[in-house]
Amino acid sequence: MASHKTKDRRGSPATPPTDGKRVKTSHSPKEKRKSFASSFDAEVRPLIDLVDKLRGYGLDRDINLPAVAVIGDQSAGKSSVLEAISGVQLPRGSGTVTRCPLEMRMKHSADEDTWEGKIMYKDKHDVSHEEVILNRESVGDFVRKAQDGMTDCDMGISDELITLEVTSSDVPDLTVIDLPGIARNAVEGQPDDIEARIKDMIRKYIKRQETIILAVLQCNVDIATCEALKMAKEFDKEGRRTLGVLTKPDLLDRGAETSVMRILNNVDFTLSKGYIIVKCRGQEAVSAGQSLTEALANEDSFFKTHSHFRSLNQLQWGIPALSVRLSLELQKHIKKLVPEMKEDVRRKLLNTDQELQDLGEDPPQSISDKRKVAHRMVHEFITIATAMTTGERIYDQRFPQEINNLYSTARQAFENLYRKCVAKQPDIKDKKLKSDLKQKIRASRGREFCNFMGKFELVESCAREYISKVEEPALHCFDIVHETTTGDLITLAEVWFEKFPDFAEKVKDAITTTRKETQNECRSEIRGYFSMEKLVYSQDETYSRELRNHNVVWNAMDCPGTEESGELDEAAEEGEYIARPLLQRSVIPEDVNGVNKALMSLKSYCQVASRRLCDVIPMIIQQHVFQKKVKTLQELLIGMVSEEGNIDLIKEEEDMELKRKEIKYRYDRLLKAERELEQI
Ligand code: GDP
Ligand code: MG
Repeated sequence: MASHKTKDRRGSPATPPTDGKRVKTSHSPKEKRKSFASSFDAEVRPLIDLVDKLRGYGLDRDINLPAVAVIGDQSAGKSSVLEAISGVQLPRGSGTVTRCPLEMRMKHSADEDTWEGKIMYKDKHDVSHEEVILNRESVGDFVRKAQDGMTDCDMGISDELITLEVTSSDVPDLTVIDLPGIARNAVEGQPDDIEARIKDMIRKYIKRQETIILAVLQCNVDIATCEALKMAKEFDKEGRRTLGVLTKPDLLDRGAETSVMRILNNVDFTLSKGYIIVKCRGQEAVSAGQSLTEALANEDSFFKTHSHFRSLNQLQWGIPALSVRLSLELQKHIKKLVPEMKEDVRRKLLNTDQELQDLGEDPPQSISDKRKVAHRMVHEFITIATAMTTGERIYDQRFPQEINNLYSTARQAFENLYRKCVAKQPDIKDKKLKSDLKQKIRASRGREFCNFMGKFELVESCAREYISKVEEPALHCFDIVHETTTGDLITLAEVWFEKFPDFAEKVKDAITTTRKETQNECRSEIRGYFSMEKLVYSQDETYSRELRNHNVVWNAMDCPGTEESGELDEAAEEGEYIARPLLQRSVIPEDVNGVNKALMSLKSYCQVASRRLCDVIPMIIQQHVFQKKVKTLQELLIGMVSEEGNIDLIKEEEDMELKRKEIKYRYDRLLKAERELEQI
């Protein structure tokens, strides 16, 4: 059988150390509390106040604050215990009466006559309420009204906190959070998942290392079946943060006292913080109108005269002992956590500061400021767009990395165009081309001698054919440069006007407008150029230089057994006159039937035209896509910002506005908290 010694060996601080003397029995419960409290009043108050203040700033959204959370199965007597400690009547009834976490801030006042009450909460529409309560009797009504305002239905529950502040001479300095009781089954009108939801809410509070768990347990039911104790064990295995409160000792069956004593002496269901037993008003006493003061006196005599319980240490029983114990525990707990809180707040403040900086400066509010901002941004945008299209380096940090170097994109497109033009040039070794030409020459032959043959018209029409073939690649080249440029301008607009998405949309619309315009104008100019190219013309100087080059190439190719000599043999077989002596290897082959001459002319001209075209087309494209487009865009944007309606679009997205607000609030409360903590 375990004895007190066993308990001591466990080093269990079931009760705080005392001087071992018994409190004089003549002390009323109130006096008893006072005599306990006065010794540490000065130390407890500032720490509890500190945490209340921090919670009031909303700091519990950023860090976990030290707290006492009251948990218990439904009807275990949680509210009754709180009532007894605070001296105010809370809503009563059966079922889930506590439907929102209720933060009860008790402030002890030295003045006997003082009683002040205040209730604060945010209703389901997020409207904050703060109401003064004039007398302790109406507290229950205020709490009920707050709960109704916060939940959707009569029986609904909410995670939001109601704060009740009571200042009085008969309360300890203590803040506790009363949580809804663990309901086994939903009653009518309650959501089906009520048990799970309540458990979740309770878990949220008790899983934090910063929470002292006050587990209220009915001593007239088997403690092993108590959900509350099970839940507390789940998160606080060794019971370091859990203080057990046994209720309803007056309802205990005869003979069950021994097992309750074992729990109280921390032999069974051991918790590091141990247990305290209290007796509150039963339903009968409440109905009979017993006051809370009377109830305390009643409790006092109950324990002092009880056959078993009177042997208990004075700190193990009664509401006054519980109040004092809780104050002390909370104070110790806060003291231990202050350094961590300081560090936590400091770190969060730094992060929040960074978040604020990342958001950038605040958006303008007045029309004139908005206009200024719009002008400035448009000006910067155009400057950057111009730099993009003139190939200047851009040093602005905001310039998106994903944007292409337009000049290099364009250069590649232009080089590709040239390659395509060359590839499409007639191949002088192409037998089919040659025989086609031969056919055509033969068909158009007149009286001339064979060495006068070689028709310009033929070459000209072939050259035109060639020109037609490269028109499409030229248009394609424009498309590539234009699409890349348009895409990049859109990307730039998105980044540049990111803060003002509606305005960014307008800018993008303007870019789309220029897209159509540039497309029409530039394509038509390119087409115009090609229709000009069909004139087939070159300065003698240019053409003959090209022709010379080709002759050299041709000459190098011409050796016995080559296609060329074979070709001529073929011609001879066909009975044509061939000036054989001129076909000697060292001599440029005289093109007696004119085919080779025509081929060389064609090749030379195509080369001249390719060169010319591949200089001119890129210039046309640059002029339209890089110059005119940006200029048109500039005009459109300047026109845009002169319109009042568009200035209104200089506003942040709602989400962003909220986010900014939220971060600022957080920054403010962290800053206030930091200052508050510095003083400790
Ligand atoms: P809660 O659901 O845990 O908040 O429980 P309540 O405080 O509302 O109490 C449930 C019922 O038990 C109420 O009728 C109380 O009057 C009654 N009650 C609470 N404590 C005691 C007690 O120590 N003795 C007796 N006899 N009844 C009690
Ligand atoms: Mg309750």
